[in-house]
Amino acid sequence: MTSLIDFDCQSCGACCSFSPTWPRFSTETDAALDLLPAHFVAANQQGMRCDGARCSALVGRVGSQTSCQVYDLRPDVCRACVPGDDACLTARAFFGLGQPGLPPGHIDAEPPIN
Ligand code: SF4
Ligand code: SF4
Repeated sequence: MTSLIDFDCQSCGACCSFSPTWPRFSTETDAALDLLPAHFVAANQQGMRCDGARCSALVGRVGSQTSCQVYDLRPDVCRACVPGDDACLTARAFFGLGQPGLPPGHIDAEPPIN
């Protein structure tokens, strides 16, 4: 993956907490999806289970330190995310996380539910 901007995803997590429709399943094989722990999968089997807008596999504090509990098994949309792309910047802006070198803003606000 080539980053457009040198963001550190492990001190961010904004895109994993922005929308329950974000970590959806798309091009994965059934075999790949079967490897995901069932408790991280949404009841409708269409994506990752989210608590509000936040993916249940994300641990940590957005804007501080985060990690994905299923990183090696994460959906393809998560693999396709490029730090600095439009989706990344939208999610970061919502949490008050701007460009490198700028201080974070509000990071405890509830993101919108799509
Ligand atoms: S919003 Fe951008 S910087 Fe933050 S975790 Fe997602 S891809 Fe990485
Ligand atoms: S599966 Fe991992 S990378 Fe994808 S949204 Fe959830 S926490 Fe983020």
